[in-house]
Amino acid sequence: MKNVVEAKVHGIKCDNPDCDFIDISVKYEDYSKWVDQPCPKCGANLLTKADYKICRRLVRLTKIVNFFLPKRKDEVSTITVEAKFNGTDCVDFVVSKEAKTKYIIHTMLFLGLNPDKYKTPNDLGDDDFCYLYTSCIQFEQNSLSKEEVRSVIEGYHL
Ligand SMILES: [Zn+2]
Repeated sequence: MKNVVEAKVHGIKCDNPDCDFIDISVKYEDYSKWVDQPCPKCGANLLTKADYKICRRLVRLTKIVNFFLPKRKDEVSTITVEAKFNGTDCVDFVVSKEAKTKYIIHTMLFLGLNPDKYKTPNDLGDDDFCYLYTSCIQFEQNSLSKEEVRSVIEGYHL
């Protein structure tokens, strides 16, 4: 059994989009030492106070969620969401295409459909991929019925 949410926070990178400075060895526990420190390559800020605060909130929130929610079965698939900090005091949450693909296949299996009979999400164009992924989310949020999402998936027969 695993925790429902896991926060993997480590590494530091330059906020300047034109700079490639990154140090993945930096531990979350040492982040406070990096707040408002200049990048050794270009001098831009490495970690703004606001980003550091958001980071701490994310970690705290993870602990709270895991305290209140029951554990997750080991076989339940994992969705990876990347939180990107870039010094704008806002966080970009990015779900990778790989994670979305896993999620779509998970929905197919849940509906009793054999993923081998459908085009893999990697064979689909961006628009079709988005449509399929959105349909799976709408199904999970109960705004699409089993039959509706099934017929969307069946539209992508091999
Ligand atoms: Zn830099």
